[in-house]
Amino acid sequence: MDEGQVDFNSDFTDQIDVVCPRCEKKALVIGASLRVPIMEQEEKVRFCCGSCGYAIKYANTPKMLVYANSNGKPRYSRMVYRNMPIDPFFGFAVWYKVETTQGLLWAYNLEHLSLIEAYIADPLREQNALESKNNSLANRLPKWVSSAKGREYLLRLIARLKLKK
Ligand SMILES: [Zn+2]
Repeated sequence: MDEGQVDFNSDFTDQIDVVCPRCEKKALVIGASLRVPIMEQEEKVRFCCGSCGYAIKYANTPKMLVYANSNGKPRYSRMVYRNMPIDPFFGFAVWYKVETTQGLLWAYNLEHLSLIEAYIADPLREQNALESKNNSLANRLPKWVSSAKGREYLLRLIARLKLKK
């Protein structure tokens, strides 16, 4: 797993479409940049489900015991799940994900998915367009996404995924 991909994905953590853990309908995590301090994330980040009304604030989730230091004092912190098909804060499954023959393709939201789609459709053009402002997006996607092999197959899966209800 390369560092670049982590950066690429973390551009899309402001709003994350997830599967509600209670009713399994589409729900929303109001997220935050992974680059801001944890205090800011705690203020901003929350989950809410429009279908069943389940709602949680990030600040109210329990911290995890990370380690006990040499004085025997426990240290607590929050987990941030990076570069996984779950939201980084609560760890709920992302809504947009699909198993492909070449691996799991997933996105935090529609914008993220559309960008991956555009890249698969035309890697060269996207690479040129994004090179200057995004420090070469092309280098930040998994290799199998950028191979021409199976492009139509992937685009078909993405088109279907976009309509997922
Ligand atoms: Zn729900």
